[in-house]
Amino acid sequence: HLGSVAVLGSANMDLVTQQPRLPLPGETIAGSTFTTGPGGKGLNQAVAARRAGVEVTFIGAVGSDGFGSELRSFLDHEGVGTDTLRTIEGPTGIAIVSVVDGGENSIVIVAGANGADDISAADEAGIRSSSLLVAQLERPLTLIEKAFALAKDGGATTVLTPAPVDADAVRLLPFTDILVPNETEAIELSGEGDAQSAARALSRQVGIVVTTLGAKGAIVATGGEIVATVAAHPADAVDTTGAGDTFVGAMVAALARGDELSAALAAASAAGAIAVTRFGAAPAAPTREEIDAFLAEA
Ligand code: ATP
Repeated sequence: HLGSVAVLGSANMDLVTQQPRLPLPGETIAGSTFTTGPGGKGLNQAVAARRAGVEVTFIGAVGSDGFGSELRSFLDHEGVGTDTLRTIEGPTGIAIVSVVDGGENSIVIVAGANGADDISAADEAGIRSSSLLVAQLERPLTLIEKAFALAKDGGATTVLTPAPVDADAVRLLPFTDILVPNETEAIELSGEGDAQSAARALSRQVGIVVTTLGAKGAIVATGGEIVATVAAHPADAVDTTGAGDTFVGAMVAALARGDELSAALAAASAAGAIAVTRFGAAPAAPTREEIDAFLAEA
């Protein structure tokens, strides 16, 4: 079953406000803009992989509200397979993102339907018919554990982005073939003091660790040793949100097509560099043609 990817993850509606500062407890302040858009790490990775040119099955859950139908239409429009996207009575997952003028983001996530933790027969079929299963940590750990066990049983490659980082995620490492943490996640998951030591330590517990380092690229570790580095491409970054998810999406798309890891990581680095020059997460993900053109020029 070369050629297809299953993404198990969250789908959120992002509700984004911009304001001069965060309100104090009990205070009401005026914001300047409000936008809504599809988000969630699962949805972002599914869209990035699809745009990078593979068939994608999204194993997810939305609520029975208007946000749920909007997210379903968005995924359909992107060409992501939604046979395994369930609608669960109740609210869709949301992220309330408060952007302060010229500064930091504060985010509140409410899981809603993303909290569903059972695997349906359709989910199982989706996992068994894919060559790679990709997950992040915005769905229940028990669900990911069950799905990874099924994937391994069927001979698929499992890929984990350990974000938002959770110490309990070490439970998933025995079922993980490729772990893709960023620097902070690697350090937190391993208990080591720096990215290099963290990568070496984690690579004794999983097949391959690809630690992303933002504008500094990525390092690859296996068997307790750092075996390769992935160069980042210079980019005029305007919004780095979702760079990591785009990187993973492009990487798994290339792997599903049968590319070697080194070629898949070159495509991933190009996709990340393109994504940071655009606003948003899923909407910033490049197509396969854009990735190939970027690599040809670089
Ligand atoms: P986010 O949480 O914002 O989605 P992340 O922390 O998971 O991102 P990063 O390590 O920041 O992930 O970025 C992932 C990859 O994207 C990097 O390894 C690199 O290839 C590319 N990238 C990120 N930032 C830049 C940048 N400023 N310039 C060029 N490439 C970048």
